[in-house]
Amino acid sequence: MNRSPFLVDVSDLLGRDVPARPVVIDVVVDWALEMSRILAEPALVAHLSIGPVPGGILVRGEVCYAVEHTCRRCLTDFIDDGCNPVTGLFEVGPGEDAYPIEGTTIDLESFLRDETLLGLPLLPICEDSCVGVVTTPETGLNTDSPSDSDDTGSPFAVLRDLLPPED
Ligand SMILES: [Zn+2]
Repeated sequence: MNRSPFLVDVSDLLGRDVPARPVVIDVVVDWALEMSRILAEPALVAHLSIGPVPGGILVRGEVCYAVEHTCRRCLTDFIDDGCNPVTGLFEVGPGEDAYPIEGTTIDLESFLRDETLLGLPLLPICEDSCVGVVTTPETGLNTDSPSDSDDTGSPFAVLRDLLPPED
């Protein structure tokens, strides 16, 4: 059998008055956004609590992963890791805000993929001080600043000092 690691049998929970039980999902995934890719190594790990609620199953917990981002400013790839709190509702039959229960099984893949990717930054930046790809300054920037014409007050004065000297 080649059973998906995301499938969890909830026949012991459905419609019963029993406490939630822990489930750990430890799996290699191939999930990505435009600027970010979840790494295969180390594997993604989700520590979940799965319990019955009226009409379905409530899944709560945390998903942790390593991710490779492409910096939005300088286009350098860099590795980061993170954990997101996750909460999802699974219901029998189609629901607008719930994932489906198939028979007595829930498939956590869509849920965990959604929650993981939603937790990633839309515009990853390698570090706060990243000045990005240096391009020719365009005229017209910051020209309508109402006051503070003092050059030492410019935030770009700090950035200039961080740049390596040109050969
Ligand atoms: Zn950068």
